[in-house]
Amino acid sequence: MFKIYERWMRINCDVSSVASTSASRVPVNGARLKYNDVMDKKVEKTEEEWKKELTPEQYAVCREKGTERPFTGEYYKSKESGTYKCVACGNELFDSNTKFESGTGWPSFYQPIAADNVETEDDTSYGMRRTEVMCSHCGAHLGHVFPDGPRPTGLRYCINSVALKLDKKNAG
Ligand SMILES: [Zn+2]
Repeated sequence: MFKIYERWMRINCDVSSVASTSASRVPVNGARLKYNDVMDKKVEKTEEEWKKELTPEQYAVCREKGTERPFTGEYYKSKESGTYKCVACGNELFDSNTKFESGTGWPSFYQPIAADNVETEDDTSYGMRRTEVMCSHCGAHLGHVFPDGPRPTGLRYCINSVALKLDKKNAG
């Protein structure tokens, strides 16, 4: 009986890991997926490695889910054209065309470059009910998404500047 169960588990896990590469990557019940188990191409590093690669500010936000103080970040009022990439792994996250002035003091976007490039998860920390936004490639915490954004999506991706790196478009 145990063997059968074990085999079933293995099959079930295989199926779910295949399915997760295409459809929804949002973990069920807020459970954190282990990236190694889901996709080979995920960036998997130890906290020690991340600490060496990231600045203390980047580490505090990306790995410890911190939040930079509003109106202090590099990009909150930036109007430069380009692609905002994950500062930790270079994954393309947001296009400057979808950036808008939210008045919050953090860079705000109404949609990611591609739905698959970010992941979301329920976040009930600090007595609030929010939706956390993470880089789908390396798991870096980016910020939160709120349902009070502008058209066409009605979403507001509220992202820490320090988690982003703007890849500027060449003028002209
Ligand atoms: Zn990343």
